[in-house]
Amino acid sequence: MKKDTQCVHSGTLKDKTTRGVNTPIFTSSSFQYLDEPENIYPRYFNTPNQKAIIAKLCALENAEDGLIFSSGMAAISTVLFAFLNSGDHVVMQKDIYGGTHHFATAEFDRFGIQYTFTSNKTEDIADAIQQNTKIIYIETPSNPLLLITDIEAVAQIAKSKNILSVIDNTFATPINQNPLDLGIDIVAHSGTKSLGGHSDICCGAVVASKHHIETIRAAACNFGGSLNALTCYFLERSLKTLAIRVEKQSKNAYRIAQRLQNHARIQKVYYPGLESHPGYEIAKRQMNAFGAMLAFELDPQAIDAEQFQKKLKLITPAVSLGGVETIICSPMLTSHAKISAEECIELGINDRQLRLSVGIEDADDLIADIEQALAN
Ligand SMILES: *Cc1c(COP(=O)(O)O)cnc(C)c1O
Repeated sequence: MKKDTQCVHSGTLKDKTTRGVNTPIFTSSSFQYLDEPENIYPRYFNTPNQKAIIAKLCALENAEDGLIFSSGMAAISTVLFAFLNSGDHVVMQKDIYGGTHHFATAEFDRFGIQYTFTSNKTEDIADAIQQNTKIIYIETPSNPLLLITDIEAVAQIAKSKNILSVIDNTFATPINQNPLDLGIDIVAHSGTKSLGGHSDICCGAVVASKHHIETIRAAACNFGGSLNALTCYFLERSLKTLAIRVEKQSKNAYRIAQRLQNHARIQKVYYPGLESHPGYEIAKRQMNAFGAMLAFELDPQAIDAEQFQKKLKLITPAVSLGGVETIICSPMLTSHAKISAEECIELGINDRQLRLSVGIEDADDLIADIEQALAN
């Protein structure tokens, strides 16, 4: 089946009692155990609502198995702690989600886990590998400047050295990018973003081979970051429109990026779909479309970033991303607020940059809103 069909149908557990077409919400946290070898329990990540979503995500990501979590960070932290031991080393791309960056700097030291932050360039990632490197962790397109990492090249390096490769695929979604097909071992998602898509749930997911999921599940049962049945239902409902939403968002983002690129008051546009973007060729190879996320830098002489955001009428200054509504934020004040000023400079992040999460509205309306806010 193609992705649009998988979004609607894969994993659906049709209601046998009423012949309803949707997966019912199974609220039980206690299940009779005598007839089944598997003991069902929400924190064992094996309830019917959890399994329905996993089946859909596995279809979309070409994965054997997966786990659904109560947040993206629950998914990411569980994956990392499932495999890392004291004395191990991790190579991490430095321009990853601010929360993941902070997780590493705040938690790894006290468990004796070493880490090196690198650029997103394949050579730099390869150079950072040590004798004790256990995991290479990447994210592409990255936050907030949409840098592109060569997934296949990184996966090959990891395989050749017997190192696990992990990717955060939140920005691209399973519609635009399937890292397992490119040789990556483990894919993590923040479901709070595009998978949920309506800015009203918090969840996360991991997909991989059965073998890797077994290891992650063992840790996950101890850490306990499982998702409740009601939120599972919301997520399953959202996933039915994932393909159609992401397609429209990607088209809108492309149009906005093209328009802003030629605007006199915009100094720079960061969007992997623009030929001027340094990652364009790689993005074209590994992505089906270039995604809903873009960033741009205001001309400092023209307009102040805060003033610009206040003048917007349709687009809301808000955190998070991937929803049906277009929102804007200053990375320096939001996702990267916990990252030092020096590191922000090193990452190329400044206070004139704004990140746009493009929704499913009409692109002309969005462009008109941005243009009126840029005008005097
Ligand atoms: C939001 C986000 C996360 C964390 O997800 P939560 O659901 O907020 O825990 C991880 N990675 C990326 C790329 C994100 O955007």
